[in-house]
Amino acid sequence: MSVTRDDVLAWLAALRRIFHDNRDRLTELDAAIGDADHGTNMDRGFSAVETALTGSTPPDIGAVFQAVATILIRTVGGAAGPLYGTFFLRAASACQGKNELDAAALVAAFQAGIEGVRQRGKAAANDKTMLDALLPAIAAMQRSLAEDAGVGANLQQGVAAAEAGMLATIPMQARKGRASYLGPRSVGHQDPGATSAYLLLKTAAATWRTDSA
Ligand code: ADP
Ligand code: MG
Repeated sequence: MSVTRDDVLAWLAALRRIFHDNRDRLTELDAAIGDADHGTNMDRGFSAVETALTGSTPPDIGAVFQAVATILIRTVGGAAGPLYGTFFLRAASACQGKNELDAAALVAAFQAGIEGVRQRGKAAANDKTMLDALLPAIAAMQRSLAEDAGVGANLQQGVAAAEAGMLATIPMQARKGRASYLGPRSVGHQDPGATSAYLLLKTAAATWRTDSA
């Protein structure tokens, strides 16, 4: 299977529902170590994405990601808005003019997006941020791709690694973002951004799971 523009649109529509359904959960996580807005930020952003894309659909996957980036940067706010905006902006550059992504192109797009988050936020592994879900996920997807697995299998590996990475944020002390102001009091709580990053990938895997190889 390859991922088409319609598959991408289906993913974004699913994300709107997922972030709506998980709004309170993400906000509770952010209430513990932040300012209790991550759930409403993500819900607002992906709701705006869905509204914009049902109005007019950009011609190719790169243009869709570009539109998503612009809307997220404008509507999500906080730390996560520019970071997820950068994710989609870099992914857009990797998908310019494309109407279909094979397994390698999809991993390359995610890789570009995650690298963008790393550069923009200047966080590293174990800083207790969304990167603690995203970095293990892309490493797992690249290993899976190197074994010639298809889109679905690559994503499943990525999601498993993202979930483990998300849970691994619980004992970490935050070194970036608002949670870092708490110092040792940030220990013992799951990072909200790592949780939304996991949901992003999990939803991609669930939406695009119909393939075998
Ligand atoms: P804010 O912290 O401004 O209220 P959000 O609540 O929407 O923004 O998002 C918080 C999440 O953003 C954190 O849980 C963390 O995962 C992520 N984050 C914060 N700073 C960084 C950074 N420098 N790099 C990567 N992710 C970050
Ligand atoms: Mg917040």
